[in-house]
Amino acid sequence: MAIKRREFIKTAGSAVIGAAVGSAVSIGIEEAKKRTVGSSFEGYHVNTSGTARMKLSFEPYELQLRHTFTVASYSRTTTPDVQVRIEYDGFTGYGEASMPPYLGQSVETVSAFLSRVDLEQFRDPFQIDDILTYVDGITEGDTAAKAAVDIALHDLVGKMMGQPWFRIWGLDPKKAPDTTFTIGIDTPDVVREKTKECADKFNILKVKVGLDNDKEMIETIREITDLPIAVDANQGWKDRHKALDMINWLAEHGVVMVEQPMPKEMLDDNAWITENSPLPIFADEAIQRLKDIPSIKGAYSGINIKLMKCTGMREAWKMANYARAEGMKVMVGCMTETSCAVSAAAQLSPIVDFADLDGNLLITNDLFEGMTVEKGRITLPDRPGIGLKPLGTIGI
Ligand SMILES: [Mg+2]
Repeated sequence: MAIKRREFIKTAGSAVIGAAVGSAVSIGIEEAKKRTVGSSFEGYHVNTSGTARMKLSFEPYELQLRHTFTVASYSRTTTPDVQVRIEYDGFTGYGEASMPPYLGQSVETVSAFLSRVDLEQFRDPFQIDDILTYVDGITEGDTAAKAAVDIALHDLVGKMMGQPWFRIWGLDPKKAPDTTFTIGIDTPDVVREKTKECADKFNILKVKVGLDNDKEMIETIREITDLPIAVDANQGWKDRHKALDMINWLAEHGVVMVEQPMPKEMLDDNAWITENSPLPIFADEAIQRLKDIPSIKGAYSGINIKLMKCTGMREAWKMANYARAEGMKVMVGCMTETSCAVSAAAQLSPIVDFADLDGNLLITNDLFEGMTVEKGRITLPDRPGIGLKPLGTIGI
């Protein structure tokens, strides 16, 4: 076995990746390109000649929001965003960095980071782990910029393999959950209108709370629909006893989970709430990356994984598995994003307890068709990579 194994590695190293998707066969590039269009694919293409190089390009793109968006700390009508593309040997992977203000990143910081990324030093895109370890090591932060590279690389590699990532990860797309649809903090009239618009399209709503009109928000929605509700306090509650009273009231009004009840710094108070709450409590602001999970273990029932915070799909997948192993629940969320980043996050959705993937539905200038919501449920296209179909020409 030993000699066989050595021979195998030497002559067919790339088959290690192929093993993850079943049978791998050697095929020509033209055939590979043709096959990536279809859904049944039995091979992939790797150019190991050393002649092809990855080329990264990017362009700022301002997302236009359908409605003014208000949470406990601010409101806005646009979100800065950067679209990324990695080209290699005739294949193109798409990625995206979305930068809502609270993330502390901007078009300038993302552009500066991406200008420093040199992918030409790598032989081929299949070296995902080495490439993304290098990208992560360039700076301390810049999580959205790193996520953009990560998403584009995953899209590229999935396309070369002819498989969507949910399949490469071994997930059943039929297990993808319903997505919540978010209703921001607003006047009763606006909340009533928004609820009417979305009540028959979704099976679960997400409501932003954390100001002084929480009960009014919920009661207004309950005038229109009995749908289950997830609430997100965005650290808005400051007193744990009042917060728990509110959570008990919410549980009696059809709320099924609570996200980030109190400021992330108040770990003991959040832990006390989790211990006493009838509803699962999810960390959002309190968790960014894989390394943060041990410090909040026990203080929350679960974690909200977002690609823009955790540097992308590679780390999101690790976080989901780690949290599960620790007995924690998992949700996957997003920023306001085009269907690019949302569809990347959706690849993971078959293993989560809750999904909050409505970012693409909140904008009016999407660039892709990707994950869709059918009768409220996340529906993953059977297209390779992250499943995108560009709408017209994107400018990069
Ligand atoms: Mg949140």
